[in-house]
Amino acid sequence: MDYAFPAPAVPVLPIAGSNQRFPVRRIYCVGRNYLDHIREFGNDEKALPFFFFKAADMLVQSGSTIPYPPLTQNFQHEVELVVAMKSGGLDIPAESALNHVFGYAVGFDMTRRDIQQAAAKSGRPWEIGKSFERSAPCGTIYPVSQVGHFSEGKLQLTVNGQVRQDSDVKMMIWSVPHIISQLSRQVALAAGDLIYTGTPSGVGPVVSGDELIGRIEKLGELRIRVA
Ligand code: MN
Repeated sequence: MDYAFPAPAVPVLPIAGSNQRFPVRRIYCVGRNYLDHIREFGNDEKALPFFFFKAADMLVQSGSTIPYPPLTQNFQHEVELVVAMKSGGLDIPAESALNHVFGYAVGFDMTRRDIQQAAAKSGRPWEIGKSFERSAPCGTIYPVSQVGHFSEGKLQLTVNGQVRQDSDVKMMIWSVPHIISQLSRQVALAAGDLIYTGTPSGVGPVVSGDELIGRIEKLGELRIRVA
């Protein structure tokens, strides 16, 4: 192919126990998938979870330092279970959804909270609060063959060693099979897709110099520093 300029590199993640890399195609995120997080913002408890997107090149690997982003005075952490897909399609039944999962990882859905809330208030898309450079840190992907699937499992986030978020994947309103099924009704999923499955309560601001560590049982740690 004779490109007009060098084609961008494919974003990749390490895979536990392998020298291969996981090439990332798209990044999907679930909004409002834990009741305690819905309550901490006073949002509608009866409304269903929903989806939004980040660009694949907004991905950051564990161990990275990320700059404090522009436009915000309230840069917040959200720790989440990430599902990594090995196949996909449209209209995937929940019963067979787990057959499409390659593995799992710890992720942070970094958020410009003030910008997100201002966009929501004015009825505009909230992408500007969610999608920006290095807004999608993600740890090593652990294949299903090593760790199985996640209907439960403790997840935690510390900032400078202080616990800020401490919950369990079993508290998700939509389980992993249900998320895959619902998302595949609106877009065709495919190998390389990541799905951030939503965050529990305890989200809050970070400032320059903070060290964030996310942990989910069996999935190791995701470490990020804010420059
Ligand atoms: Mn989130």
